[in-house]
Amino acid sequence: MKKLLVLYLALIMALTAGCTSQKADNKPLIGITSTYSSSARQAPDRQDFTRRDPNALRRNLTRPDAPRRDAPRPDLTRPDTPRRETPPRDPNSPPRASTRVGFSYVHAVLESGGIPIVLPTVSDEQSIRRYVDALDGLVIIGGNDIPPEAYGQEKHETTRLMPQQRYDFESKLIPAWLDSGKPILGVCLGMQFVNVAAGGTLIQDIPSMVQTDIKHSGGSYHPVRIDPDSHLALRVGGIGAEVYSSHHQAVKDVAPGFKVVAHSADGVIEAMERTDGGWGLCVQWHPEAMSNVEHRKAVYGALIEACKNQK
Ligand code: MN
Repeated sequence: MKKLLVLYLALIMALTAGCTSQKADNKPLIGITSTYSSSARQAPDRQDFTRRDPNALRRNLTRPDAPRRDAPRPDLTRPDTPRRETPPRDPNSPPRASTRVGFSYVHAVLESGGIPIVLPTVSDEQSIRRYVDALDGLVIIGGNDIPPEAYGQEKHETTRLMPQQRYDFESKLIPAWLDSGKPILGVCLGMQFVNVAAGGTLIQDIPSMVQTDIKHSGGSYHPVRIDPDSHLALRVGGIGAEVYSSHHQAVKDVAPGFKVVAHSADGVIEAMERTDGGWGLCVQWHPEAMSNVEHRKAVYGALIEACKNQK
């Protein structure tokens, strides 16, 4: 009897383990773009900790031979301070840079039932083709501005360009992804990037180009009005939302194959959806940065669900 019980338990455990792995396999694989950050000055082998890291001096104080806390701090600006020689850069050395993405994007994908995977800014055709083939869904993250030449405008003085590496990668990835028809979610700059990649244009600077009392930039909340006939309204469960906003640019002419599904009261375009067969949702705000869990899950969950429906 005991033996039977053990066997029975073992069977249950095996079945449960099987189910869990099966479940994980069904979770869509969601690519999250990133930005390229040149961090040459912070490479550990070059770093002068006493100059760059304010805590380094404090750490030194714990050493027995360290100067006492009340001792005068060394004057690092003195002209006779020995200068560090920078050795000439070896042309064969790898790039000293990093791939960066806010973890809130990763978190939002995970909590909505996706498997997040961060994509570095590599613009070779083979990598892009494999990403498009292998991934189920794609999130285009926020960031600095698109070079205005990409949509036929001259640069406004407030336009702060994204790193060239990011532009080179995503200006190839997004059109290839849109061709595949697989689900895409554009967030903030990500919405603008999808729009430009699909043939739309942008307003380069809301504060100087749009008459408005709404503060869109700097990370503050403002209300948006959602089109009742949109997928977004269905997901969010209404036509109004209070959203976390951090942008100074916005969509001007909507790209063919997309329609506007949300505005702020000043007329600024706040969200768009794909209408030409493929699944696409773009929001000008940052759902992943909001403490409203339902809203986060409504937007990111829409992407995950669309991926599941396509599988
Ligand atoms: Mn806004």
